[in-house]
Order: sequence, then structure tokens, then C-alpha cells
Amino acid sequence: MSRTLAFLERIADRPFGDGRLRHFAFVATAYLVAALLLVLAAAARLISLPGMLAGISAMLAVNLVFLAIFHFRINERFADPELTLAQSLAAIAVIMFVAFNFERDRSLVLVWCLVVLLFGIFRFKPRDFGMTTLFMLAGYALVINLLMSLKPAKVDVFVEWYLWIWLALLLPPFAWIGARIGAMRARILRSNKELIDALGTIQEMATHDSLTGLKNRASLSDALEFAISKAQRNGESLAVLFIDLDGFKSVNDTLGHATGDILLREVAGRLRTRVRASDLVARLGGDEFVVMVDPVADRQGLQLLAAKILAVICEPVSLQGQNVTVTASIGVAVFPDDGSSVSALLANADMAMYRAKALGHNRVHEYSADLGDSVAERFEIEKGLRDGLRNNEFRLYYQPKVDFGSGRMIGVEALLRWHHPVLGVLAPDRFLPVAEATSFIIPLGRWVIEQACRQVSDWQRAGMPRFEVAVNLSGNQLADTSLVDFVVETLRATGADPALVEFEVTETAVMHNLEEAAALLAALRKIGVRVAIDDFGTGYSSLAYLKELPVDVLKVDRAFVRHLPHSRDDLAITRAVIAMAHGLSMTVVAEGVESRCQFDSLQAEGCDIFQGFYCRPALESHDLEDLVRVHGLTIPTRD
Ligand code: C2E
Ligand code: CA
Ligand code: CA
Repeated sequence: MSRTLAFLERIADRPFGDGRLRHFAFVATAYLVAALLLVLAAAARLISLPGMLAGISAMLAVNLVFLAIFHFRINERFADPELTLAQSLAAIAVIMFVAFNFERDRSLVLVWCLVVLLFGIFRFKPRDFGMTTLFMLAGYALVINLLMSLKPAKVDVFVEWYLWIWLALLLPPFAWIGARIGAMRARILRSNKELIDALGTIQEMATHDSLTGLKNRASLSDALEFAISKAQRNGESLAVLFIDLDGFKSVNDTLGHATGDILLREVAGRLRTRVRASDLVARLGGDEFVVMVDPVADRQGLQLLAAKILAVICEPVSLQGQNVTVTASIGVAVFPDDGSSVSALLANADMAMYRAKALGHNRVHEYSADLGDSVAERFEIEKGLRDGLRNNEFRLYYQPKVDFGSGRMIGVEALLRWHHPVLGVLAPDRFLPVAEATSFIIPLGRWVIEQACRQVSDWQRAGMPRFEVAVNLSGNQLADTSLVDFVVETLRATGADPALVEFEVTETAVMHNLEEAAALLAALRKIGVRVAIDDFGTGYSSLAYLKELPVDVLKVDRAFVRHLPHSRDDLAITRAVIAMAHGLSMTVVAEGVESRCQFDSLQAEGCDIFQGFYCRPALESHDLEDLVRVHGLTIPTRD
């Protein structure tokens, strides 16, 4: 059976590749049946032997002509390449020819007219029914006239015209019914096709990402499920590469979403071309993509593939006429080592990707079991920041800054703590990097400024002795164009004295965008607040630029204080920094002073102020208030 089918397909392919042979063969079969009936008619002496041969020859001739027309593709030049009407008219001509040759009982031949109309149901347009009916009636009238003049002996004119009238009454309703059935059939075919198309679209939507055409999360899950059970059976391994673009958000924000979409499509295309056909690429949403590698031969090959993917992603993309380069971070999880279920593999690859980002973007990180804790914590933190701010879980602690000369506390530095409901009291290094990465630093930083200003004015109102409060600004806040306005407004709203407020900006943040930072610092100073450069010495910047900066205070980083007085290098550096800062009329603060010897050596070098555990760590406001209540501003050191 299948061999016969294959054979038919082969010949169907040859003369008429698009299946027109089917139409032709269908009609030819009808002719074959008619020819056989003609032979029977000859046997029953309804037609003479020469008449029969003439009829069969006519059929053969018509078929040969159409075969040739289809074979040489002449039919393609006509409006209807299937030549439906032409074939029907030819068939009617043959019927009339045979009818003409019949000796008696011509009505038997005319029944074939109904067969033509029957075929028409499948192929005719509505007006074709009218045309064929007219052609049949005209053809039969012509036959009657020819018979009357050529074979008057063999024709009973009254019977023939009676037959003609009978046909004229029968064929039109028959044609009308045929037309209606044909139209119905066309409608059913059309809605069937629409249904199939709609089902296809739904199927496509359910399994594919509409933006990139890649597989979506649902079909990735299905494919992973299948691949895992196959790998389990065969003892193979497979891998999931979790790919997340670095800095996609900023492309979206600066160039617009439409451009972001173009970028995503470009990345999708590149991913698709770089993996093997057996590997699957999916987009989970946003800028997250997953490549499923199945099977995995060895980890080295996997690393190579991941490196290749990083390389193709960071090739420049032309967006709005400018070349934009994006990088990606990739996390890798391998079945069965790193997870044995779809969800575990995806979650672990995601976690590894997070680590790749934390390690500085544009890199690949493989999952390992110890990764779980730190990433889970980061996740917890990222989720909790907003709630934390809303629920008042953040507090400012205050660390005294003490003047070397007078031994009096001249101010405090406000240091942020998060009283996390689950993780306990968190130091800034646990959550600030996350806040900075998610731009949550802006609202959080504003909260700090507001809180510090309120504290300044509360202390003043409570009659505390005057000392200033220093507030740390993160690098991201320097780019906030409305920062100065916010500070002005906050000072006004809280009633804090600007002279008692200081802002600390790290050397690295300032260097990052020197001109912008300098303008901002100048604007802040104009309000009347003071400005300090924090962590000085860690930015490896040339000292020369300091001259240009509108700064009141220089804070020497803890790293240089730590090894005093034993490290001669650190001592030399500290000495130079103090001399230079004094040359520029800046006050020098030493951070992280923990011991008497450090204190002594900094004092000997002429440092102005110190801060550190040697005096006090950062304290809650009420602890600081108690301290001042007892000792005034002369807080005793802790040795
Ligand atoms: P920083 O500005 O250099 O703050 C000084 C850090 O050194 C504080 O850590 C402080 O607790 C610690 N410290 C003070 N004295 C000593 C000492 O004698 N020995 C040692 N080993 N450490 C000492 P903390 O509070 O963990 O803050 C870390 C950093 O987080 C700060 O470094 C600052 O850059 C940032 N930060 C803190 N609060 C805020 C804030 O409200 N906003 C912003 N943007 N950054 C903040
Ligand atoms: Ca600081
Ligand atoms: Ca510092």
C-alpha cells in the first residue's frame, strides 16, 4: 500500500508537481467509465460500431489535448489554471457528439450531463453552473437540428424536442441546487481553514514568545521535562544556560522600549544561530534567555559554548544609528549534578547567573551547592528593601568624630543599619550594593538625608550642644539631578541648620564623573552645607584634581590608618595627604582609629579629627544622647 502511494506521489510529482494530475485523473476516470458504457451500448446496438469508435476517439482526443496542456503548463496562462470550465465544455461537446451518434434512446447519453453538474459541485463557481446548463441545452438543440438535416430517418423530432424541454426544465434547478451545495462546501472549507489557522496561531502563541519567536517558558519546561527523562534512561547529562543581559534596563530607559525590543530580537537571532540544532533556545521574558544543551558531552565543551555566547552577544548592535554594546551574565546548571527536576535546574542556573552578575557581569558562573545561601540572601534583600523602608526597618546610627586638639566631639557620621525581620541587624555592605544595583538607592538615600536633617533639628530643639551630622551619598545619588532641590526642601521642612550638615562623597564616585560631581558639590556648598571626600586614597587618583574640587574635608581611608604607626609607607602617605590638604585649607579626618598608638601617631602628624572604635562605634541616637548628657562633648576614649 505504502509503495503504491509512493509511486503515485512520484508520478504525481513529475508531470504536474502541484497535484493537478489528481484533477486530471479524476476527469479521465469518468471518461473511462463512459467509454466502457459506450462499448456496452454498442453491444446492445444502441450505437453503431463506427459510432462507438468515433465516440471513444473523441474522448481520447480530448484527454490527450488536456494532458498536453497540463504537461506543458499551458494552463498556467489562463485565469483558472485548473481549466474547470474548459474541461466541462469539452465533456459536454463529447456527450453531444456521442448523442449524435446514438441510433436510439439518446436520453441515456444525456444523463451524463447530470454527472458533469455533479462534478461541478466540487469545482464550479456559481456562474459556471449557468454556463454549462446553457451550453448543454444549446448543444442538444444543435444535435437535434443536425440529426434532422443529416439523419432524418433516425430521428423522431417530437420525442427529441420533448426530451429537450424535459432537460430545459430539469437542468436549471439541478444546477441551482449544485450551485448552492458548491457554495456551502466552499464556506465549510473556508471556515475549516480559518479554524486550522486559528488553532495554529493559538498553538504558536502558547508555545512561543511573540517578540522573538523563540520558545517560551511553558514549552521550555516541556522540553526540559522530556530531555530529563530521556537523560535519566540513557545515563546522559544535559545543561541549562541561564542568560541575562547586563544593563538592558538602561537601554530601555534611554533609547525606549521599541529599541529595547529590537535589541532583544537581535540577541535572540544570534543565540539561535550559535547553538546546535538539538539545543533549544527560549526566552523567559524580559531580558532572560535560556539555552538547553542536550546532551552534554563534557563540562569543557559547555564552558566553550557559554564563552561563545558571551562573545556573540557583546558584538555591537546598531540601534538608532549608534553602535550599542551589551554584555550578558550566564549561569550554568547541569543535570543530574546540579538538580534533577525542571524547576531545580532552572532555579540553580538562575542563581549561578546572579552570582555571575555579582562578580562583575559579562561572565559565566557554574552552579555549586554553596551558592544557594548567599544568593538566597541577596534575593531576600532585594525583595525586602521596599517593605523595609515602608515598615521603618531602617535606622541611622551615629559615630562620633573627635577633634585631636580639644578632645571634643565636633560631629557625628550617620551610618545606616537595617533591622531586617529575618536576617537581623544588617550593615550597609550587605544591602547597599543591592540597593545601588536596583536604583532603590535613590529613595533610600533620600530617606537618610531626611532622617539626618530631622535628627539635627530635633537635637537642636532639645537643647543639645551643637555638633554636625555627616551624611553619606552614594555614587548613584550624584547623578540625581533633583538632589540639590531635595536637600534645600528637606532643610527647610525640618528646620535643620545647614551649617550642621555635611555630605560625604567617596573619591571613586567623584572621579567617575568629575565635572558633574564638582558642579553638584559646589551647588551643595552654596546652600551652606559642608562637603567631604570620603575614603580618600583608595581611588588611586592624582592629587592634582583635588585643587579643582570645592571640598571642605578630606577623610583618609581606614586602610592607611590600620598599619600605623608601624608601616613607614602608610605613615609617609598620611603625612603627605595631611600636608597637601592643609595646603588647600581642608580639614583632615582619619577614619578607623582603633588604638592609642594610631591616635598618637596621627596626632603627631597634625591630623585634625579622628573617628573610630578608639572613641566609639556608631551608636543609636538615644545612646549618643545619653553619652552627651553624661560627658558633654568631651567623650572619654576607651583605653
Ligand atoms: P564609610 O563611610 O567609610 O563609613 C565608615 C565605616 O567604617 C562604617 O562602617 C563604620 O562603622 C566603620 N568604622 C568606623 N570606625 C571603625 C573602626 O575603628 N574600625 C573599623 N574596622 N571600622 C570602623 P559601616 O557603618 O558598616 O558602613 C560601611 C559603609 O557603608 C560606609 O563606609 C559608607 O560608605 C556606607 N554607608 C553607610 N551608611 C550609608 C548611607 O546612609 N548612605 C550611603 N550612601 N552609604 C552609607
Ligand atoms: Ca562615610
Ligand atoms: Ca570612609
